[in-house]
Amino acid sequence: MTDAKFREEICRFGRSLFERGLTPGSSGNISLRLDDGGWLVTPTNASLGFLDPARIARLDAKGKLVSGDPPTKEIPLHTALYETRAGARAIVHLHSTHAVAITMLPEIDPKAVLPPMTPYYLMRAGQTALVPYFRPGDPAVADAIKGLAGRYSSVLLANHGPVVAGETLEAAVFATEELEETAKLYLLLRGLNPRYLSPEQVSDLVRVFGLTLPKHDEHGH
Ligand SMILES: [Zn+2]
Repeated sequence: MTDAKFREEICRFGRSLFERGLTPGSSGNISLRLDDGGWLVTPTNASLGFLDPARIARLDAKGKLVSGDPPTKEIPLHTALYETRAGARAIVHLHSTHAVAITMLPEIDPKAVLPPMTPYYLMRAGQTALVPYFRPGDPAVADAIKGLAGRYSSVLLANHGPVVAGETLEAAVFATEELEETAKLYLLLRGLNPRYLSPEQVSDLVRVFGLTLPKHDEHGH
């Protein structure tokens, strides 16, 4: 894909996410890694609903701004995940309501935020890790993401929102949507004793679809 096509794709997915209420105001940001090692990144203080392809930040491989508006201040979230996930070509970060909500629940397991509720959650988002709360702009959040050593393609920042990597922008967007919808299902069913996928059903998905889920002991999930 050309640089121009990638810019259009970022704007198209950004608008779609914003219009469905998946990230309010000027929250949320998208980045895409280019073949030369540089990045396209959505600008700081820009709403994902109203992006201008020409003003998207173009960074070189060292992270220096080459053209466009200054990139989002949340760029350390992106670089931390790129550094540890070799196959990541795109990252989506949102402030999506249900995913943020579950980070505040007392029973959440930081190694598997959501139980295996649907096959598509596992197939697109895998398991999701929880990173503790950090004040916006605190560089320690990047260290916390790096501490997961690239085992997770989807990470939830406590009281803040998801950061999700994919091999394409479409894959990262779809995985973020699955994470949000699964968080919504979890909240709908919380306290109703729902029947999640069994360890056998999860193993079957792992085998048939070649999933690589982080190792995690199955206590009650
Ligand atoms: Zn954010």
